[in-house]
Amino acid sequence: MWGNNKTDSYIISAKIPEVTLKAKVTVQMASRVRNLPPYLFAAIDKMKQEARAKGVDLIDMSIGDPDLPTPSHIVDALKTAAAKPEHHRYPSYEGMLSFREAVSGWYRTRFGVGLDAASEVLSLIGSKEGIGHIPLAFVEPGDVVLVPSPGYPVYPVSTLFAGGEVHLMPLTSDNGFMPDFSAIPEAVLKRSKLMFINYPNNPTSAVATRSFYENVIEIAGKYNIIVCHDAAYSEIYFDNEKPLSFMEIDGAKEVGIEFHSLSKTYNMTGWRIGFAVGNKDVLAGLGKIKSNLDSGVFQAVQEASIVALGTDDALLSGIRQTYQQRRDVLYDGLRGIGMEMAKPKASFYLWSKVPKGYTSTSFVADLLEKAGVLSTPGSGFGAPGEGYVRFALTVPVERTQEAVGRIKKALS
Ligand SMILES: *Cc1c(COP(=O)(O)O)cnc(C)c1O
Repeated sequence: MWGNNKTDSYIISAKIPEVTLKAKVTVQMASRVRNLPPYLFAAIDKMKQEARAKGVDLIDMSIGDPDLPTPSHIVDALKTAAAKPEHHRYPSYEGMLSFREAVSGWYRTRFGVGLDAASEVLSLIGSKEGIGHIPLAFVEPGDVVLVPSPGYPVYPVSTLFAGGEVHLMPLTSDNGFMPDFSAIPEAVLKRSKLMFINYPNNPTSAVATRSFYENVIEIAGKYNIIVCHDAAYSEIYFDNEKPLSFMEIDGAKEVGIEFHSLSKTYNMTGWRIGFAVGNKDVLAGLGKIKSNLDSGVFQAVQEASIVALGTDDALLSGIRQTYQQRRDVLYDGLRGIGMEMAKPKASFYLWSKVPKGYTSTSFVADLLEKAGVLSTPGSGFGAPGEGYVRFALTVPVERTQEAVGRIKKALS
């Protein structure tokens, strides 16, 4: 029996009423925590606090979190839903069927993809949660997971937590920031269990082509690799060029799943809701892990999210327009002072080379000190990100303009 020690403790306290035990444990983290890669952003956080303490008027372009509020019709839907007692109980772990049907409907409208709501859609407590848990379902100690680098730090960390081995796939400007599978040794591909890809990409803002996805499906089929595509930024796109869903490509559902989130699309990062769609056996594996660890998403949040998924496109188009204006100001401004970068087609990041003579971190430190502008060093997303800096388009256009002016002055 676990923990059935009530009687024991009763007897002890009865016998020795005034015992003072001075127990002390030596706290040692497990190796999976000790072996985590160094947290490069901690240094940035420290610099940020120091700048703020000095009273610097900081322009923070380091945060991948929308500054705009959640649209009010979604907030109103939550208020109504929160008052319903049936939502105050445990939700079902796979998500309300009505939410999963709304996701299925959204995929049909947006991508022309059909999904069975009952078996091909799983709700998540934010897509980060799903990404963090999925290796636990499929990766045995020693199995390889293919991870893009620079990339979202959760991919390698979730791999390590499951005892897997990370094989980094470098994203460089030469390969259009899409992994070059021919550069992965055959022996590694044979040991690979899972592959993460992410488009529109954080941090590089690259968008994947149809032929890249076709290539992914071919490799996955040949080497039996489960594909996990992270599509968190599919709705933040510019110039009316809609990014593809991986699920639109023939054969995608046979090899993998797609993670999605309401966070970036509807400015709902704080709400913690996302979903995964696609291969039902892969989703069942992830669902099994989740049913043993969490108890699903607050149903009122799911109900408000059904409303979110039905948001009028005019409103979303306005949000995209806001990011696009900021992108144009920052891109034109930085190009104007000789910095080198591709013009982002999607996501809310701008990925630029640092000027000659700088490393990623020395440039970020210099901009903070001389311009009061905070950005993120590319090296923080993995070694191949060295020599780059990431600016988030999450500050208003006037402040973006101000940032450009200050950077110009600082660099001249
Ligand atoms: C923001 C982000 C996510 C996670 O978003 P959630 O809020 O957990 O849904 C996932 N992947 C990438 C690349 C992101 O930038």
